[in-house]
Amino acid sequence: MQKNNSHEKEQHELIVIGGGPAGLAAAINAESEGLDTLVLEGSPRLGGQAGTSSLIENYPGFPDGISGPDLMFQMVDQAARFETEFLAPYRATDVSTTEDGIRVETDKHRSFIGGTVLLAMGVQNRPLDARNLPAWLGRGVEYGSPNLNENFEGQTIYVVGGANSAGQAVQHLRKFTDCKVHIVIRGDSLDAKMSEYLIEPLEEASNVEIHTNTIVTAVDGKSALETITLEEDGEEKIVQADRLLVMIGSQPNTLWLPDSVAKNDRGFVLTGGNIPEDDLSEFERTNGGRAPFGHESSIPGLFAAGDIRYGTIKRVASAVGDGSSTISEIHEFYSRLRETTNQ
Ligand SMILES: Cc1cc2nc3c(=O)[nH]c(=O)nc-3n(C[C@H](O)[C@H](O)[C@H](O)COP(=O)(O)OP(=O)(O)OC[C@H]3O[C@@H](n4cnc5c(N)ncnc54)[C@H](O)[C@@H]3O)c2cc1C
Repeated sequence: MQKNNSHEKEQHELIVIGGGPAGLAAAINAESEGLDTLVLEGSPRLGGQAGTSSLIENYPGFPDGISGPDLMFQMVDQAARFETEFLAPYRATDVSTTEDGIRVETDKHRSFIGGTVLLAMGVQNRPLDARNLPAWLGRGVEYGSPNLNENFEGQTIYVVGGANSAGQAVQHLRKFTDCKVHIVIRGDSLDAKMSEYLIEPLEEASNVEIHTNTIVTAVDGKSALETITLEEDGEEKIVQADRLLVMIGSQPNTLWLPDSVAKNDRGFVLTGGNIPEDDLSEFERTNGGRAPFGHESSIPGLFAAGDIRYGTIKRVASAVGDGSSTISEIHEFYSRLRETTNQ
């Protein structure tokens, strides 16, 4: 296919929806192997969740760790070097099949056709059910990790959640010696969800306190957050807090996808052998009876990779591997299509 770097071009061999590690790795591998690729990113900033991580310590090649924004900047740079096109903020709002491929509608009232499309929209924060919480968002209550450029000295900060992302946030916050950090978890220990390398320093830190078997039930304040209510063993107590960071897990960004894209009960996209037989009759009818490739959804030519795909490990390296390995299947998709067309 002829290459054209103008953003006016509406047709591409691959459209990637989502500019996180999975989408960027797919774009790098696709473009480096000659597939004309457009990346649509819904937020103004490329990099996905990884781009918000203060320090990624388990990504191969960086023994001292690397900040999420730095790592993701390098991936964007690399994809751009191979002449990937990016549009951001461009949020995909629908996908449908057409004679020329898959149409992607966006919130900018512009649509694009991809010979193939890769869903790489990742996941977003799960909401915390606490009284008054929505009213305090942005006024002391936040979802996700702390702003790396902010000075937290002198603050009392509650972090809700016991997985690695919460652990990393607390690692960052505890470096402010005059900052008191509280971790609030439902369970009775951090071991269930947090990696050992993160737990040890938190347990030893003098300015970190861990509240087990505890939930946050309400937040309150005047112009900014002042107190939160903790419930432990059915008893509520109100404590002073300057900040509440909510990091209690995630849900896939798939609500907008049509029902024809098979998903599991939590909304993760099913691909390959995980798609129930009942969802495959149309697929097989229109594709000479072939089964979907490992990363292919219940719609022929519509692939999924990274956190959004059912069964993946929610890590940067696995998202990168998942996005990259989709590309060989996309080549195979095109080669089968050519065979069918030439018959
Ligand atoms: C704070 C934090 C710290 C973490 N630290 C680590 C770590 O140290 N090590 C590790 O291995 N993993 C870590 N993770 C997990 C890791 O970041 C994710 O597993 C990884 O980013 C998943 O990549 P992805 O490309 O599948 O999805 P994402 O990174 O979620 O990227 C998806 C992108 O799609 C975009 N998008 C969503 N919907 C649409 C739409 N409709 N249209 C267009 N674009 C859309 C989103 O804006 C986002 O940019 C961390 C996660 C968080 C939140």
